[in-house]
Amino acid sequence: MVLCEGFNRANEVSEVRSELVGRRRRPTVRGTFGPSLSSTGASGGFHAVRSPDSTHTAKLKTTRTDRPSIEDRDGRRSGMPTVTPRCCGSLTMDKSVLVTGETGIEIEAPSNVFLIEGEQTVLVDTSFGDVELMAERHPEFACRRDDDQTLRAVLRSEGHAPDDVDAVVLSHLDWDHCYNLDLFDTDRTDVYVQRRELEYAVAPYPMHYHRYDAKALDREPPWLSVDLTPIEGETEICPGVTAFPTPGHTLGHQSVAVETDAGTTVVAVDAVPTFENWEGTADAPFRRGLAMDEIAWWQSAREVRERADEVLPGHEWGIVDAGPERTG
Ligand SMILES: [Zn+2]
Repeated sequence: MVLCEGFNRANEVSEVRSELVGRRRRPTVRGTFGPSLSSTGASGGFHAVRSPDSTHTAKLKTTRTDRPSIEDRDGRRSGMPTVTPRCCGSLTMDKSVLVTGETGIEIEAPSNVFLIEGEQTVLVDTSFGDVELMAERHPEFACRRDDDQTLRAVLRSEGHAPDDVDAVVLSHLDWDHCYNLDLFDTDRTDVYVQRRELEYAVAPYPMHYHRYDAKALDREPPWLSVDLTPIEGETEICPGVTAFPTPGHTLGHQSVAVETDAGTTVVAVDAVPTFENWEGTADAPFRRGLAMDEIAWWQSAREVRERADEVLPGHEWGIVDAGPERTG
């Protein structure tokens, strides 16, 4: 039964893939599944690929001229973007998910998002969903979020409403990184994901159903009803802010390099989920995290290290103004 379903879904995704790959310029995808929307005759189908934007170039969006230029946190005028990591709650997991070999240790890890303020306001990741829903879907992770840690509250405390956000960059589509997208009006806010990640998450193999809150589990993945803009490879989001593929943790994971006053900050997210992944030896400079592709993980970690003057991990307490409340 499961095999049959997997087979059907593999056929579906290959049709989605060919449709997506055929679009060369900024194909915005409305990812909507539904039995009545199938174009394949199978149950469920990928719906409605919007026409490409013919004006699109490698730069995804021109600078909005109605925005004042930013000031940095010291109030100095600065032409360079800044990056602010913020904690949107926490979840528990076996430590080996973040650092392989560390099995049998339950830890509470933060769910971090990253606000980039430059010529555009860019948010990297949107955290997990309402804790009640997460308690249904992922009870083993015991998600926790204080009132001041909702994505809306975090944006507000940084002086922003959701409509101020020009772009959301989703590092990948694991459930703990991509909920809360309904805060954004995608006529104002572009939501970027690597095409490779989207292609796989649409119809993952059964071992990854839970990670992606897959339709196969009778769930609605949080990104499925949102206009997503797939990008391919290294892509400048706005001046000084560049998304680049860091596959390994998932097939289409991406990180974001930001040219700040202090050099290049790489928002690595789950390419390097904690600082402990950095604590290797001369022979083995990294301690790997959870990976769909272990070799790609290693190569991506190496690229992050080469590009970065500063690295911001996705599940590291040391970069946010918060700490674990549970011991484990
Ligand atoms: Zn994660």
